[in-house]
Amino acid sequence: MKMTARHTKIYSHEALMRYARQLGFGDIHYRLDPKTKLNAIIAVHNTVRGPAIGGCRFYPYRTYAHALKDVLRLSSMMTVKNAACGLPHGGAKSVIITPPGEFDRKALFNAFGDFVNDLGGTYITAMDVGTTNQDMDDIAERTPHVIGSVRTDVLQEDPSPYTAKGVLRGIQAAVRFKLKRESLENLTVAIQGAGKVGSTLARLLYDLGARITISDVDQSKVQALRDTLPVKIVSPEEIMLTPCEVFAPCALGGTLTHDSVAQLNCEIIAGCANNQLAHHQVATQLQQRGILYAPDFIINAGGVIQAASVHDYHDIDIANRKIDQLYDRLLSVFERAEREQRSTNAVAYQIAYENLRSHE
Ligand code: NAD
Repeated sequence: MKMTARHTKIYSHEALMRYARQLGFGDIHYRLDPKTKLNAIIAVHNTVRGPAIGGCRFYPYRTYAHALKDVLRLSSMMTVKNAACGLPHGGAKSVIITPPGEFDRKALFNAFGDFVNDLGGTYITAMDVGTTNQDMDDIAERTPHVIGSVRTDVLQEDPSPYTAKGVLRGIQAAVRFKLKRESLENLTVAIQGAGKVGSTLARLLYDLGARITISDVDQSKVQALRDTLPVKIVSPEEIMLTPCEVFAPCALGGTLTHDSVAQLNCEIIAGCANNQLAHHQVATQLQQRGILYAPDFIINAGGVIQAASVHDYHDIDIANRKIDQLYDRLLSVFERAEREQRSTNAVAYQIAYENLRSHE
């Protein structure tokens, strides 16, 4: 792709450092290890609430600048998420640029483990896009500051069922607040994405009497679900137009745009996808349309809560209790947004900043 003046500006060193300052950084660590081809950045955005937790993304970034911009953005979001959910952790993230050509994956993740270990526990790494339990096992050979290594800790299982459970609690809170009812019997829910979280959520909702409509770009996913649950399948184009009480985005981020929100036919949006809003103003549009939005970084926190609780206390009951509390956490966001006549998203950010300030 030809670099335009705009791209050059966004990705210049000066612009990236300005972006880091705007986000309130923080420490940015870089390691290049020619022997293993490791080319990694760890961005520790904030440790005010405790050691910073955030996943490790393994991705073929086009340039170092693209990787840096991504890790800066993602790590600041982890600070907001961890603070909004009351976790005793700061926010961080790491990215490893997929090396060109052949490389030894185990050696690369061992070297990344050394990198994490050298930070002395200020950063705790975990799985993210492109990384696996096996990679976490390889990191764990070099550092204890890792979550998701099943070999070293059987409780560090797949976070998806915990994320789904948190989303269910969020839906229950939203239904109580918006529809003034406790039961999910006959609630109509449209789920976008039948992946790990979306399909588990469909099962949990069905068990409580809800009626599910679902879509996925991958037909094998929805067919597999329909083999075990009586769900209605619609095309990916139709799911956001489906009349329902709850729309649950459980696929990719950015699907809530000005145009798609104008077409929505629901009363509540509550799902697990990260970064659901294409931009902040969409939250105001939802408020104006009277659609209750459960902020994504709170409702989808079940996975990070499970990971952090197992890491901190080695106790899955604590994780389950904290995930249960997402119900009250979201209810208080909805109530405060109504009281202050603000969007639920703005209130969720405000709560995160207040939780950060109370630790300074
Ligand atoms: P997944 O990859 O298992 O599932 C995503 C599904 O969405 C896939 O089946 C994919 O085919 C489908 N999809 C993609 N584009 C679509 C579209 N336009 N319409 C319909 N379906 C589409 O991922 P997951 O682990 O279930 O996570 C889903 C979302 O939740 C992601 O945004 C993820 O970042 C976020 N999230 C996941 C967790 C977790 O614990 N897994 C935690 C927090 C946030």
